[in-house]
Amino acid sequence: MIVVLKNDVTQEQIDHLLDKTAKLGLKPHISKGVKRTVIGFIGPEDVLRVTPLEVFPGVEQVIPVLAPYKLVSREFKNDSSVVQINEKISFGGKKIPIIAGPCSVESKDGIRSIAQKVKESGATILRGGAFKPRTSPYEFQGLGEEGLKYLSAAGKEFGLATITEVMDSRDIGLICKYVDILQIGARNMQNFSLLKEVGKIEKPVVLKRGMSATIKEWLMSAEYILSNGNFNVILCERGIRTYETATRNTLDINAVAVVKQLSHLPIMVDPSHATGKWNLVESASKASVAAGCDGLMLEVHDNPENAFSDGPQSLLPETFSAVMAMLKNIAAAVSREI
Ligand code: PEP
Ligand code: MN
Repeated sequence: MIVVLKNDVTQEQIDHLLDKTAKLGLKPHISKGVKRTVIGFIGPEDVLRVTPLEVFPGVEQVIPVLAPYKLVSREFKNDSSVVQINEKISFGGKKIPIIAGPCSVESKDGIRSIAQKVKESGATILRGGAFKPRTSPYEFQGLGEEGLKYLSAAGKEFGLATITEVMDSRDIGLICKYVDILQIGARNMQNFSLLKEVGKIEKPVVLKRGMSATIKEWLMSAEYILSNGNFNVILCERGIRTYETATRNTLDINAVAVVKQLSHLPIMVDPSHATGKWNLVESASKASVAAGCDGLMLEVHDNPENAFSDGPQSLLPETFSAVMAMLKNIAAAVSREI
């Protein structure tokens, strides 16, 4: 439930409320808005029948959160969240950060060369998988820690933040040593034990939508991360499975607008996995920016034909550069910046 405090509430009144609610087993999440301070409480709401919080001094109103996801919902926090990556990059503000790079880190020189090119075209975050969730166990599984080292070195050399996928909670500590953002892939969106563990760290987490997940299920997964303490979550629409076979997945552009209504969390789009075809990525990217996304993730490879994974959906660096130029115009048209 949300407790809206009065304009003239005193610190003493807030402390009294927090003390009492702690005894009732309710966990507070305080958000100081521009106009009002509100406290969201998570816990057994039936205690309110015995102890109505409306009567507490300094309390203006008590509002139940009806959505099954609480901390993630816009009812809980009306102002859109901005997830800060470093001093220069954030998701959820006017600027739309672009994540670019290969599907997998393949070699030291390979990631370095792609990093240099995507940086020149305006990307600010470098992607590259070191632990790959492949459908077949016989396919390239990623370089592991060696890949993390190459990704991190390339990011540092060109002033790019870095992101990589974590598939196993045993790797969280290792991955945190090398990168700025952790990605939970579509296949792990409902790996609840992994979600709980990334909820215990402070690094930002990109939570991809499961390929057959409803928006509600996706938000419930985000709730696992927030309820464990990590509010630095960015949602990522990456296409869902439909009956359509012309594309790898179907980009659910509706999800951008729906998530904006239901949640305060930033929402980004991955047009590469959503389409599966490099020559559809530009259209899908433009649509995403026009729809109001807070970030994009694009797979870029300088030799897609020989890429270890996802070559068919990877943009050549020169195509990426042309797409970036187009996206700048679309962003300006919707009062954003790239
Ligand atoms: C990826 O980003 O390379 C990836 C595997 O994505 P997804 O989890 O969306 O399939
Ligand atoms: Mn990929």
